[in-house]
Amino acid sequence: MFIRRILLLAAAATLACAQGNVSINGSPDRKTGEGEGPFDRMVIRGITMIDGTGAPARGPVDIVIRNNRIAEIRSVGAPGVPIPERGRPPKGTKEIDGTGMYIMPGFVDLHVHTGGAPKAPDAEYVHKLWMAHGVTSVRGVPFGGMDWSLKERERSAKNQIVAPRLFTYHRPFTGEGWDTSAAQTPESARAWVRWANEKGIDGIKLGAQDPEIMAALLDEGKKFGLGSTAHLDQMGVVRMNARDAVRLGLGTVTHFYGIFESLLKDYTIQPYPLNHNYNNEQDRFGQVSRLWDKIYPRGSKEWNDFLDELLQRRVFMDPTMTIYSAGRDLERARTFEWHDRYTLPSLWAFYQPSRTDHGSYWYYWTTEDEYNWKKFYQVWMSLINDYKNKGGRVTTGTDAGFIYQTFGFAYVQELEMLREAGFHPLEVIRSATLYGAQALHEPKGKPIEFGIIRPGLLADLVIVDQNPLENLKVLYGTGAVRLNDQTGRSERVGGVEAAGGCRRHGRARQGEGPFGHQPRITERGAGLRPATPAVMPACGNAGKDASMASLKARFTSH
Ligand SMILES: [Zn+2]
Repeated sequence: MFIRRILLLAAAATLACAQGNVSINGSPDRKTGEGEGPFDRMVIRGITMIDGTGAPARGPVDIVIRNNRIAEIRSVGAPGVPIPERGRPPKGTKEIDGTGMYIMPGFVDLHVHTGGAPKAPDAEYVHKLWMAHGVTSVRGVPFGGMDWSLKERERSAKNQIVAPRLFTYHRPFTGEGWDTSAAQTPESARAWVRWANEKGIDGIKLGAQDPEIMAALLDEGKKFGLGSTAHLDQMGVVRMNARDAVRLGLGTVTHFYGIFESLLKDYTIQPYPLNHNYNNEQDRFGQVSRLWDKIYPRGSKEWNDFLDELLQRRVFMDPTMTIYSAGRDLERARTFEWHDRYTLPSLWAFYQPSRTDHGSYWYYWTTEDEYNWKKFYQVWMSLINDYKNKGGRVTTGTDAGFIYQTFGFAYVQELEMLREAGFHPLEVIRSATLYGAQALHEPKGKPIEFGIIRPGLLADLVIVDQNPLENLKVLYGTGAVRLNDQTGRSERVGGVEAAGGCRRHGRARQGEGPFGHQPRITERGAGLRPATPAVMPACGNAGKDASMASLKARFTSH
């Protein structure tokens, strides 16, 4: 394990990025048992495929994977009857029986940070929680410091660590070696872009910079094929809302910031209470929801014109609904069933009300706050759904590690919230796969390398033993609860079997598992979904262990 001190130069005005000195320990080198392969020829047999394009599920199919790429997808029969052996692809050097299982492209989380001390000092914890939820590619905005992020990206690409593919975006004027005391001008903005591009970043994470700076950053970034995503923070949004930013070439609008402000009806600035203070986070997070009834309503010309402009400019909307969801139901977020076992004590401590921990703004959270957030979500979801229905691409991001949202679990909640917004489950999966891949590849001017199940593409895949279209909850690392009518007791079903081409063999028996401690046997007789350490990579990020093994998350002081 290498340890590197890094300085996270988070802009003071931006959300969900820890400030000050933050250190993260890189993932340890991949250990024996944390994956095998790739194989010359692996065949996944008799599985039902959800290919990520929005096409309906289809099965049984046999999928042939050569090394880390999909070589062939062959339909081999009809559901409910035995598969005739004739006409099936020849035996592979590795075989997986996918009978009764579902396979999807690996998921993409377009808005992540990797924790860091004190709340989550080990990247391994975060990386494995992502993998355990089928997340095989992530966009760090940023993961951590620039040098550390680039190094970790390289280690993941070489399959030296258990982690998703890492795409690393960074904030302007940050990075080890950049003179942060220099004046920020359009010229220095361009110089930073060229400098950071030389370092090898994939894109720029913007705030709501001053207009001339924003213009320079986006223009220069385009020249080098750098992607862009912006949290249009409240300190700059008056001069840089979403409409302004996309006209300058912004690729992705993340969160809701800048969107509602583009639609203000009777004001040009959000009508804040007169004692509002941005550095008071209950003010910041409490008041933003009050925008829900200050904008042009759904269906109005202004509403539609705005969405049409985003659509015409091929803008991605990356809402990260999960990260604000505690605002509408604080008690639920505080009592997610996985906190007990999977939220690190230090992360739990970070979530508690605090005037200094970012996002822990529950100084006195009231019914009025929740009422406004509930209303806000109704409007926001309708806007997201309208954008999707116009043909706009909505993607999946989490921003987890704040506000009671624990890595990986938050991703599945984001999928559930897209469903709530009105997405068909096939549309949800498309957002999580194809659209995420497009958001990462299009700025580079390259075709997607993953994101749908097609011959020639990387075999970044997720296997789950239940139909995720029927119930997205089966994707939670802890699975979903179901009554077993044979035993009369409830049990856990689902849980991602494989991610990044790595497989956890079958369902682990109760009490079995490689956790530092035994999985809990509940009073209902079901263990949390343990991962057996045997994994089967052979594709994609070959060797990436999807297991939640070695996570030290044990919660002692609820
Ligand atoms: Zn963030």
